[in-house]
Amino acid sequence: CGVFGIYAPGEDVAKLTYFGLYALQHRGQESAGIATFEGTHVHLHKDMGLVSQVFNESVLEHLPGSIGVGHTRYSTTGSSRKVNAQPAVLETRLGSIALAHNGNLVNTVQLREELLQSKCNLVTTTDSEMIAFAIAQAIDAGADWLEGSIQAFQRCQGAFSLVIGTPIGVMGVRDPNGIRPLVIGTLPENPIRYVLASETCGLDIIGAEYLRDVEPGELVWITEEGLASYHWSKQPQRKLCIFEMIYFARPDSLMHNESLYSYRMRLGRQLAEESPVDADIVFGVPDSGVPAAIGFSQASGVAYAEGLIKNRYVGRTFIQPTQTMRESGIRMKLNPLKDVLVGKRVIIVDDSIVRGTTSRKLVKTLREAGAVEVHMRISSPPVTHPCFYGIDTDTQDQLIAATKSVAEIAQQLEVDTLAYLSWEGMLKATGEDPNSFCSACFTGDYPVAIPEQVKRSKLI
Ligand code: 5GP
Ligand code: SF4
Ligand code: MG
Repeated sequence: CGVFGIYAPGEDVAKLTYFGLYALQHRGQESAGIATFEGTHVHLHKDMGLVSQVFNESVLEHLPGSIGVGHTRYSTTGSSRKVNAQPAVLETRLGSIALAHNGNLVNTVQLREELLQSKCNLVTTTDSEMIAFAIAQAIDAGADWLEGSIQAFQRCQGAFSLVIGTPIGVMGVRDPNGIRPLVIGTLPENPIRYVLASETCGLDIIGAEYLRDVEPGELVWITEEGLASYHWSKQPQRKLCIFEMIYFARPDSLMHNESLYSYRMRLGRQLAEESPVDADIVFGVPDSGVPAAIGFSQASGVAYAEGLIKNRYVGRTFIQPTQTMRESGIRMKLNPLKDVLVGKRVIIVDDSIVRGTTSRKLVKTLREAGAVEVHMRISSPPVTHPCFYGIDTDTQDQLIAATKSVAEIAQQLEVDTLAYLSWEGMLKATGEDPNSFCSACFTGDYPVAIPEQVKRSKLI
């Protein structure tokens, strides 16, 4: 999911939020929503669809205020329905809250039980709504905004990057492991205005300047007094999702002070060093495989050429909730360039193989278009484990590398050769401490313990 927040009295916060969400569209395409606060009054509009489908000028005009919170959703928990769209708006003793969540809680079964026992009227099915209820509960029991929120976060386990609007300010929060990203930006006006976004591309689009990341286990509280920071977790640690870096986040977003485009090019270079192959051309699966393919070309000397053209108006194929939709999505999306491919030995680079459905189809397409050899190179290791923290890499039985060796996968995909990047290579290319990432979908080493019954729902 994509989350966005802004505190900017005197500005058209609904429009700024709209543009922020527009830049974060790749993080979720099922539903979009914006809540604004005009004093104590909250305005909300959310619906199924893309940001550009859910909002237009007249809808935005009906969202006045000085605080904005926005969300783009891709469902990992709860069904794909309008009631599950966010922000989740709730009444508390101190006024409304509007909460936008990116990530997945893992202790929802327990949390739901506790909340239902205290007569919470859970209307939707999302873990996000449970966080909002937990905050409301603490506030209704006498806590203020900050105490109430912190008490609620301490009950949550898993991944949560949150933006929470209230009548007096907006909060940005990351879970103690900082699994999902969240950044702070500033607008240059006097006084300074603060912006929160899942990625820096959400700041760029509105002309905000990147200030810093919200830290793991940190809460920033932005009010008329400016920005205040609270470190609410006793044991914060850095476990940023490596999949954000490899694939999920936009290549023009910054993480660790460089664009992900640069990181992904380095993955490609590393891949070429680890697994070279003699061929005529190399290209990436658009868009996510392209930077790694360029890096591969640079390091190997194999010419870079586009072999596939993407229809840019089709959403990410994995985001559609059904397998049938997913498969037809792939056909709609990529078209081979026959004259580039005919008679060539090609290297096709992609960021990951999850289920293997995309890859299998692509290989077939390339051969039909005249490629004589197809070598596949993947700029991440085999995905062997499901994600419980908010990336929909499916249940373990759907993951091709969970049960098959690289040789068996190569056979199934009908490629001449197949190689994945090593786990060490993927982490080395970050230039950061390898322990500061979650890479559980490649190793099964989950940084936040998964309760047994939740594990059983996704593991073979
Ligand atoms: P698959 O192997 O599942 O057919 O698709 C892999 C390709 O789609 C890669 O290009 C990757 O960018 C993307 N992809 C497909 N499904 C998922 C998913 O569930 N999660 C993530 N992170 N990427 C996916
Ligand atoms: Fe990211 Fe994989 Fe960890 Fe999920 S399990 S948070 S996709 S690295
Ligand atoms: Mg892709």
